[in-house]
Amino acid sequence: MFTKAQIKLTILYSFFFLSLFWVFSFGLYEWMNASFGEGYISQVEHRQGGSVVDEDAIKPGNSNAHIVTVAGDVALDQLFRNLIALNGILVFVVPAISWYVARRTLTPVQKIHEQQKQFVSDASHELRTPLSIMSGEMEVILKKDRNASDYKKTIISTKEELDRLNSLVENLLFLAREDQGKKSLQLETVDITDVVNSAIAVLHSKAKSKHILVNFEPPQDSISLKGSEALLKQLFVNLIDNAIKYTLEKRTVTISIKKKNDSVEVVIKDTGVGVSEEDKERIFDRFYRADTSRSQTKGYGLGLAISRAIVERHHGTLTLSSQVGKGSTFRVMLPYSG
Ligand code: ADP
Repeated sequence: MFTKAQIKLTILYSFFFLSLFWVFSFGLYEWMNASFGEGYISQVEHRQGGSVVDEDAIKPGNSNAHIVTVAGDVALDQLFRNLIALNGILVFVVPAISWYVARRTLTPVQKIHEQQKQFVSDASHELRTPLSIMSGEMEVILKKDRNASDYKKTIISTKEELDRLNSLVENLLFLAREDQGKKSLQLETVDITDVVNSAIAVLHSKAKSKHILVNFEPPQDSISLKGSEALLKQLFVNLIDNAIKYTLEKRTVTISIKKKNDSVEVVIKDTGVGVSEEDKERIFDRFYRADTSRSQTKGYGLGLAISRAIVERHHGTLTLSSQVGKGSTFRVMLPYSG
């Protein structure tokens, strides 16, 4: 597909630049031709002591005009041959350069296309997994008559898979909308402490079930910023959820908010498994999960991609510092609006 596009683009570029050179050569030749003509008339005038040229004097046979005419003809002839040679060389050089430029032009498009293809294939794979689990469970339960508790177990497990499927579809929709072009945010004045508090409240029972202490250090004064309350809540739910998910039982997660110059800094620090150097950038990619997480926890690898998209929508930054086995610190910097 991209080779065809590259060939078409090469033809287009070559046609454009060769036409440009040909028009330029033709123009140059015509201009030189006219200039020699004028030069020849003015030299004849000069020889006649500045008087107005009479028609006979500038006829080619006239001795006054002869030298200028010959010199002009030779120069024009030479120019003509040089232009033909130059354009002959360009017929080969221009397509070669166009081929290279076409490839450079298409490389970013090709990269985006590959990413999209990968995204669709990962999404299909992730959608298929819960569907096959549900279908398998249904087949097993329907094979013979079962008691009520067996049916209940299957329904509960199916409901869990459906919830996971639902959250996956919502995440995919969010990213698809982001890709479609960014609608401007509905800005509202948001108290950052309230948003973080409500995110912690969502995850309270999850932290409790792992006996994890969530230590929140709010700022002394309230800090407001302009943003979308719903998206910011989703951002902090994602980050705190990860902090709890990737931290062993009975450990601590610390969340702090500080005002720093023109920014608000929210730090989510856990004492969990940490992230290796090679995974540090990749974990923000869609569907990427570190190998250790794949085997130990459930997830789709979309949370951080969404979190980064939300932070960028708010013109902020999301960074990570981490040490394997010691824990991770995610730092969100958002512009402060007073
Ligand atoms: P998910 O948690 O569903 O896998 P995310 O996009 O939220 O998806 O995270 C991507 C990957 O980044 C996780 O699979 C995990 O490997 C790693 N990760 C994210 N947060 C943490 C954390 N706090 N500690 C260690 N690893 C983390």
